[in-house]
Amino acid sequence: MLLACTPPAPDVVLVSLDTTRADVIDAETTPTLWALAARGARFTQAFAHAPTTLSSHASVWTGQDPHGHRVPRNGYPLPADLPVLPERIAAAGFDTIGVIGASALARPMGMDRGFRVWDERLSHKHEHRYEARAAEVTDRAIARLARRPSRTRAFLFVHYYDAHAPYDAPAPWTTRWSAPGYSGPFDGSRRAMTALADASRLDIAAPADIAEARARYRGEVSYIDAELGRLLATLENPYVVVFGDHGEALGDVAERAWGHGPDVDAPATHVPLIVVGPGVPAAVIDTPVALSDVGATVLRLAGVSGGLGAGRDLAPLWSEQRGEAWSDAPLYLEATQPREAEAAAAWNNLAMERAVVRGPWMLLRAPWLGQGPTLTRVSGGSNVSNGSNVSNVSNVSSASEVSDAAPAGLSAELDALLSAWDAAAPPWRDVRMSAETTEGLKALGYLE
Ligand SMILES: [Zn+2]
Repeated sequence: MLLACTPPAPDVVLVSLDTTRADVIDAETTPTLWALAARGARFTQAFAHAPTTLSSHASVWTGQDPHGHRVPRNGYPLPADLPVLPERIAAAGFDTIGVIGASALARPMGMDRGFRVWDERLSHKHEHRYEARAAEVTDRAIARLARRPSRTRAFLFVHYYDAHAPYDAPAPWTTRWSAPGYSGPFDGSRRAMTALADASRLDIAAPADIAEARARYRGEVSYIDAELGRLLATLENPYVVVFGDHGEALGDVAERAWGHGPDVDAPATHVPLIVVGPGVPAAVIDTPVALSDVGATVLRLAGVSGGLGAGRDLAPLWSEQRGEAWSDAPLYLEATQPREAEAAAAWNNLAMERAVVRGPWMLLRAPWLGQGPTLTRVSGGSNVSNGSNVSNVSNVSSASEVSDAAPAGLSAELDALLSAWDAAAPPWRDVRMSAETTEGLKALGYLE
């Protein structure tokens, strides 16, 4: 009888929304996430350390930025000597289940360490991609949870990949946000994406085509949101942590206007982060945080002590008393392309675009373009609370403005921080990829 009266300990669900910008999340586009966020902690200034899938997930797994976990880009397996979140949570008695949506996180990358189940059936081979649709990911997650050993708490990781290009959500989401009567050439295919990127570079892209591309991207995110809703409806009041692994340029900048990889500005790195569950109050938090903080926070929710890497437990930011220690720290961001900019003498990404975020400020350098440093204000730019969405061209530019109101000396101070971060970078890393890994990454468009 006593057991029947004791509420079951909550499961922990970690959700990765691949390629999802912070400013695409709103009540209309993502009603599931919007409702979820309304009853938990919503971080309006969360950043990915890198605009690339594997490196970003490695930050969540290890609590480290790329210089700490040494995964410069896709195809470089997670070093085996680093402690990871799934192992820690498995050691605490959780049944660990991962269901992934793309080959960037496939088993040879080492991300399955600590999981009892790592479901990577990537049967969907559309336009030579290796991925699983959101509906498949949800179906598999539900089936795996149903078959878990009884009386165990689950740690479920789900990876929804659909927002990644090409933008081809299934009906009815395909053209859910398209302008009525659009009859231009943009059909969401990779070929159409390439044509649009070329036209954008020449500044001759038709506004109607740009709007259609954004609408189709938005449709993908709405599709994922519906699938996440279907998954969460099967669970009883779990802890849910949702993050975007990086953003996506949607015609924001004339150069490199679409996709992700070469940039660390807000469209590329400003991501959604939502934490919901028993004891987490409704709160909107504007403090800048990073994906390396997610692991320590998940462990805290799971009741596992000890933290993770350099990551910070985010709980003090939503706690009323703020009695617990919180340390503001600079966040470092680093792009992962183009590979030609790499110099084999030093850490792979040192010549790539890079940035430091502290307080409301981002200082950005683009060494391979010979640019920088540029100081921008990120607070008050693109965020989940301002209601902007990617359907509106004028709302998309975020944090692109150089501010005159910056305190004197701030630029030099942040520039020195960035230099110090670079000076402490690990040595150059090379890997010999298997033919299978190479093919999978090429199919996803990750290898130049
Ligand atoms: Zn990704």
